[in-house]
Amino acid sequence: MEIKNCTKCEGGDTWKPARAHHCTECGFCVFKMDHHCPWINNCVGQRNYKYFCQFVIYILLSSAYLSILMFLSFYNLLTAEKTKIHMNRPGYPIAFIMCIIAFVEGILFAFFTYEILTEQFESVDENQSYIDQLKKQYGRQGELYENAQSYFGMDSMWWLIPTHPELRINYLERVWPKKAVQRMIQMDKFDLQEEHSDPDKKQFAEEQRHARFEKKIVWGILILSLLFWFFFLQELLSSQFESNIVRPKKSKWSPHDY
Ligand SMILES: [Zn+2]
Ligand SMILES: [Zn+2]
Repeated sequence: MEIKNCTKCEGGDTWKPARAHHCTECGFCVFKMDHHCPWINNCVGQRNYKYFCQFVIYILLSSAYLSILMFLSFYNLLTAEKTKIHMNRPGYPIAFIMCIIAFVEGILFAFFTYEILTEQFESVDENQSYIDQLKKQYGRQGELYENAQSYFGMDSMWWLIPTHPELRINYLERVWPKKAVQRMIQMDKFDLQEEHSDPDKKQFAEEQRHARFEKKIVWGILILSLLFWFFFLQELLSSQFESNIVRPKKSKWSPHDY
């Protein structure tokens, strides 16, 4: 394999892996760089790809949720009272306008993030980042699950939870020109046995340690919140039962009427 150095990085003679790209905004090389994201003011590469995708997924979910809530509020504002007296209340026009703005905002961000998400899915499926797409090249051609593991960690249970991903990073990953990959698809032959796969074992062990620590924190938070809800609900139910004990009032109605 040809060894390339980055001339733009500090020092000018640092090794540049085949799948790395120099980001002019960050001023260093980023491995499996996808793009420099202005929304997070950082590069998106292999090691923060999981967080980036979660960021997009959760914006999509909350935007959809916002749109549904705003639609219901809007409907409620229009139809709440038959007398329409509520429309003359001082806050009504502002609430009305805010509902529309938030609804449009929710719809726009939901479509925007949905679009990004489908692109990211394709990018993981084909093992081709946005930078690779510009350079007309691909990474190692493997299974979707395998590709996803290389970005989101070995344990799929934690892919949607913001913990440190355990990544087995192969800085020696080769790049394949588009033509070669197209030929492989035509012939249905994927003989991309990587002769240069040597992930840093020390780094992987460190990644796993880091991931285990963060998983423990998440479990701790989960157990604490469950306990909290358990006691909270218990309190709530017991206070409700107390208030349900109604002293018999003198009334005309008596159960014997039935
Ligand atoms: Zn560089
Ligand atoms: Zn950057």
